[in-house]
Amino acid sequence: MASLDTPLPDVVGGRTAKPLEKAFGMRTVRDLLGHYPRRMAERGELTELGSLRVDDEVTVVADVLSSTIKRAPSGQRREVVVGDGRARLHLVFFGKGVWRSKDLVPGSRGLFSGKVGQFNATRQLVHPDYLLLRGDGDDLEDATAGVFANRLIPVYPATQAVRTWVVSNAVHQALLMLDPVPDGLDAVVRARRGLLDSDSALRAMHEPDDYENWKSARKRLAWDEAMGVQLALAQRRWLSSSNPAVPRRPKPGGLLEAFDARLPFTLTDGQREVGEVVAEELGQPHPMHRLLQGEVGSGKTVVALRAMLQTVDAGGQAALLAPTEVLAAQHTRTIESLLGPLAQGGRLGGSETATRIALLTGSLPTVARKTALLEAATGVAGIVVGTHALIQQHVSFADLGLVVVDEQHRFGVEQRDALRSKAEQPPHLLVMTATPIPRTVAMTVFGDLETSTLAELPAGRAPITTSVVPATEKPAWVERVWQRIREEVAAGHQAFVVCPRIGADLAEFDAEFETVDEEGPPGRPPLAVSDVLPMLTDGPLHGLRVAPLHGRLTAEDKDRTMTEFAAGRIDVLVATTVIEVGVDVPNATVMAVLDADRFGVSQLHQLRGRIGRGGHPGLCLLVTDVDAEAPARERLDAVAATTDGFALARLVVEQRREGDVLGAAQSGRRRQLKLLSLLRDEDLIIAARAEAADIVAADPTLADHPLLAEQVAALVRDEQAEYLEKA
Ligand code: ADP
Ligand code: MG
Repeated sequence: MASLDTPLPDVVGGRTAKPLEKAFGMRTVRDLLGHYPRRMAERGELTELGSLRVDDEVTVVADVLSSTIKRAPSGQRREVVVGDGRARLHLVFFGKGVWRSKDLVPGSRGLFSGKVGQFNATRQLVHPDYLLLRGDGDDLEDATAGVFANRLIPVYPATQAVRTWVVSNAVHQALLMLDPVPDGLDAVVRARRGLLDSDSALRAMHEPDDYENWKSARKRLAWDEAMGVQLALAQRRWLSSSNPAVPRRPKPGGLLEAFDARLPFTLTDGQREVGEVVAEELGQPHPMHRLLQGEVGSGKTVVALRAMLQTVDAGGQAALLAPTEVLAAQHTRTIESLLGPLAQGGRLGGSETATRIALLTGSLPTVARKTALLEAATGVAGIVVGTHALIQQHVSFADLGLVVVDEQHRFGVEQRDALRSKAEQPPHLLVMTATPIPRTVAMTVFGDLETSTLAELPAGRAPITTSVVPATEKPAWVERVWQRIREEVAAGHQAFVVCPRIGADLAEFDAEFETVDEEGPPGRPPLAVSDVLPMLTDGPLHGLRVAPLHGRLTAEDKDRTMTEFAAGRIDVLVATTVIEVGVDVPNATVMAVLDADRFGVSQLHQLRGRIGRGGHPGLCLLVTDVDAEAPARERLDAVAATTDGFALARLVVEQRREGDVLGAAQSGRRRQLKLLSLLRDEDLIIAARAEAADIVAADPTLADHPLLAEQVAALVRDEQAEYLEKA
């Protein structure tokens, strides 16, 4: 008998095992049985031959209609015609194959594998491999009888050297010898979740009784994949929450209270609820690990700021990590203006409880930089805002209690960790993202963080209308774009014009961002700020106050431009995606995105989040040259159709291949997820997460669950191997 760890040759013999190892790297019974069928072919049903595409490697079920031998000067050949009742396919055999294929008599049914070719407008398989299927009641000594005893025929991922029936034969032998597979999951949990046991699932995945049975098998095996990931994450959460951290409890009469008292608006319910959770966690002697998701404009900054103030009240410092200099500078301005005298610690006119805000970015002038470094190191600055520069080695803090990461998708886990290592004990962590992530992806990718969501926007937000402007089809509409901008400016509002590129150098996109650049209209480079700006000021926007903003300006210039724009002394900003994240100028009401087809869905969604923030309706115009049929147009139409970021996030996930969702850094995890789909298996992932949390709560090291522990170990090994390969 055999177990999952039995070497493959011991079970199927060396002659079969060798090609299986060569083609798929299989060494053990586990490897073989982990090679799941791609689909199940119905014995009674024939493959639709009409849908076969030239050059595809296919395995089809079809009936032999005729078999004839043709003579030609080059030699004999056998031509067999097979059909599915409607379409036909030719099979051609030369040389020795002519004689060998004599068993393909009309009326027989078989599996045929080969590469689809085309000859005189007829699709054909040249020298296909095949396996004849016998009728149901046929004699059992037949080779196919055992393997294909059921109505469903598994079709495996196969190669030319290893056809699908070679795999099924090997699987059949392995299953015959395999001892019952032990189950790591309690019978109670299985019953609660309606799951097959491991042994039945593994067998039914390959040789199901019927389709329902196959689906149940698939569900159980997908569950195991979800469970492995969720157990690993639950353990990681358990480990980090068992680390000690300095509790930062709220202080009556402190900065936070003073701040709340001077806040010009009331918090939304969501902000208050998340705020309470965060306040409670900051007061714990274990580090908080929380992801704050929220639609663009939902008011995450205030939530983060309140957490920072609680930390400062408790004697600690908070660091706010922003992805760009523009955003870091803006955060500093926003925080200073929200705090007013509370941010003027040690200065004339500052309040008694006041603290100081330091800004630290890569391009600060030396003096400012030294001051910021000193304020961080001595603890004079309660809040330190910065970019990647914060992570550098010479930056130190007196007592770093809280790390806030804005727009997490721009940062890797390594950077997050590098900043956290600047505290003696792990600081609390709050990660914010406005890129909506479908719940299951959040659970799988950011699963070591607890998640909070700000679902509602603050009251009084006006809606944003988005329209696609097809420049080549409707040139007059483009005129209308500039006219609308003039109208808004005349009404006292401001506008953004966004371009994909900065300037003359064709390779020059805004360094900090990527654009989708493969789908633009051919023959023209993407529009650049440096070309569009004079075009507008000499033309349709003549007389308005227009200024450029992009990543190549000096930090001072960028800062000055943003300040001027925020103060209403600039009417129109012609910018790159530097304004994509977080730029907050409530008076801006219209945005024209030029070459909009060059941007991705979430980028566009982020971009338009810059307008309609001040209670005035926003208008976003997506200008494009691509045809109405182009895939890029579909993307633009989707963005125009909804402002629901979560709906758009699903669209992004659906359009990309599943694996891409997890990102390159997660490819180890991806390899483990053979059956699990982050979109289709949402319920399953949620259930597995709940069960995993319960199991780890009761048995953190999985000492009492050796099989589950082994499953997690395998996952972690795979991820580490992947990591090492890349390093
Ligand atoms: P995001 O979640 O996109 O980072 P911000 O934190 O930048 O959003 O907030 C967007 C705008 O909404 C800011 O101008 C902020 O001052 C304002 N805001 C935040 N909370 C509220 C609220 N409860 N009521 C009214 N305005 C709010
Ligand atoms: Mg923000």
